[in-house]
Amino acid sequence: LHLDTTPVAAAASASCVLENADCKILELLQHNHGLRLSFLQENTSSAVAVSRDWGLIKHLQPAAVLHPTSVHEIAELIRAVASSSSTNLTIAAKGVGHSINGQSQADKGVVIEMSTMKGMMKVMPYGDEDCALPFVEASGGELWVDVLQATLKEGLAPNSWTDYLYLTVGGTLSNAGVSGQTFRHGPQISSVLQMEVVTGTGQIVTCSPSKQPELFFAVLGGLGQFGIITKARILLVPAPQKVRWIRAMYSDFEVFRRDQEMLISEMEDQLHTFDYVEGFVMMNNQDPTNGWKSVPFSPDADQAVSAMSSSTLPADPDAAAAAASSRVLYYLEAAVGYNLADVGPALEKRVEKMLAPLSFIRSLMFSTDVSYFKFLNRIHDLELSLRAQQLWDVPHPWLNIFVPASSITTFDSLVFQQLVPVEYGGPILVYPLNRNKWDRRTAAVVPDEEVFYLVAFLRNALPSGPGLQSMLDANARILRVCEDLNGKHYLPRYTEEEQWKRHFGSEKWTAFVQHKHMFDPHAILAPGQNIFPRNQ
Ligand code: FAD
Repeated sequence: LHLDTTPVAAAASASCVLENADCKILELLQHNHGLRLSFLQENTSSAVAVSRDWGLIKHLQPAAVLHPTSVHEIAELIRAVASSSSTNLTIAAKGVGHSINGQSQADKGVVIEMSTMKGMMKVMPYGDEDCALPFVEASGGELWVDVLQATLKEGLAPNSWTDYLYLTVGGTLSNAGVSGQTFRHGPQISSVLQMEVVTGTGQIVTCSPSKQPELFFAVLGGLGQFGIITKARILLVPAPQKVRWIRAMYSDFEVFRRDQEMLISEMEDQLHTFDYVEGFVMMNNQDPTNGWKSVPFSPDADQAVSAMSSSTLPADPDAAAAAASSRVLYYLEAAVGYNLADVGPALEKRVEKMLAPLSFIRSLMFSTDVSYFKFLNRIHDLELSLRAQQLWDVPHPWLNIFVPASSITTFDSLVFQQLVPVEYGGPILVYPLNRNKWDRRTAAVVPDEEVFYLVAFLRNALPSGPGLQSMLDANARILRVCEDLNGKHYLPRYTEEEQWKRHFGSEKWTAFVQHKHMFDPHAILAPGQNIFPRNQ
């Protein structure tokens, strides 16, 4: 970002995005507290750049940006705003702004670019005097890809990931952080040992399950409402060198879901369970994002798939015919880690044993071996390709939800089979998670059922497509189906308090409101989540 670094006196001029009174307050704070704010002027390229996020749907311009180099600058800013006479000024921590609906924006407020706190990472392979477990201590603005690179140098890595690694530690811990490892290890918020947080009153607090636990659990999954995560200690485990990465096709949703649920069930024999399990809805067409072309790993497999899609491949003729005639298909993505020393017949036998109980279409299995880093960073190649085609910086009307397992078949017939058009234009994920891996003390909201599915509708709004508004309307219809089936919105954004209450449920909502009063009584933090109005 190229930010305006206009001298303070000029910043308070008429073109400041703030009402004059608030402009003067910020100007005073800058002087009296020595804050290094960069003021923005309305509709300049700098102001427009800060108000963008991944969704490209909402654009709220802040009045100023802070590029902190220490936790004290963040605390000073929050204290100054909290003690000022303004009843409007708000503050949003921004990771990389990979939110969809303006969650990291602050309308006429201050955005804290957490990325300037990157690079303050400590990898402790043997723990320290307080903690006997290996951990990494990363800044809230650190990218997960950098965490992975640093920890792999010690042969270690966190055990729970998101599919895409160019997200910040603070950004995903404010939500949950889910991927194909979540069924076994819980979301990323389940692997946090300790955090340093700046609360909405500007206090710097170190918290953990035993020190200031109320703040610790409120912040995890707390949508940025209770404090800014400036450091997080994350548990590390030994990292495998390589990954066997498998995709296997299904034409029958019931068979697909039964296999997925079997794979995530607690098995005594951990050696024979996959380390990663995800599922995808595939459209029976040649779309590169969710058609046949998105499934195989190599051009040869591509040919096999084309042959199968025209039902000419001899193996599994019944399954092939069913697959060829289905509008919607499904594929399982599973992976198992191993070390180079394991390569050989024993590894092959182990994988065979893991695949044996599954009922996918045998001729439609694709497999490849890649490094652990390449596997975890798998979306990056797609990013580079989309960037090269100018298809990365487009609006993303994404929808992420959690659907209880008891309703997923109904959801399939109502949504995948009916509401989703054949030309969908983006991946659709559907994979199960275990409720018992989520700590009920965190603020994250999930369905109250032992197994539930993450369902993600990740389409891009291209100029040639159906138009952004119609995509948002389609998402609203899907969200209604989800809520009617007792599902929950993941990465939520609602506009009415009643909707938030329903989202949290009465018990969790009461705790959420209490925590807001305790940790951010003026409702200064994360205004883009649109939960609490700013107050005095
Ligand atoms: P931002 O968008 O910058 O911020 C999100 C919210 O967190 C805002 O309210 C902000 O104020 C707050 N916040 C940011 N930093 C801090 C901090 N340090 N302390 C307190 N609050 C803070 N999610 C998954 O769970 N699994 C996935 O597999 C996954 N894949 C994704 C793939 C892509 C390509 C994209 C764009 C997103 C994906 N997400 C996924 C969603 C992602 O985890 C969330 O949108 C996350 O919030 C983005 O992190 P960010 O650093 O960009 O946060």
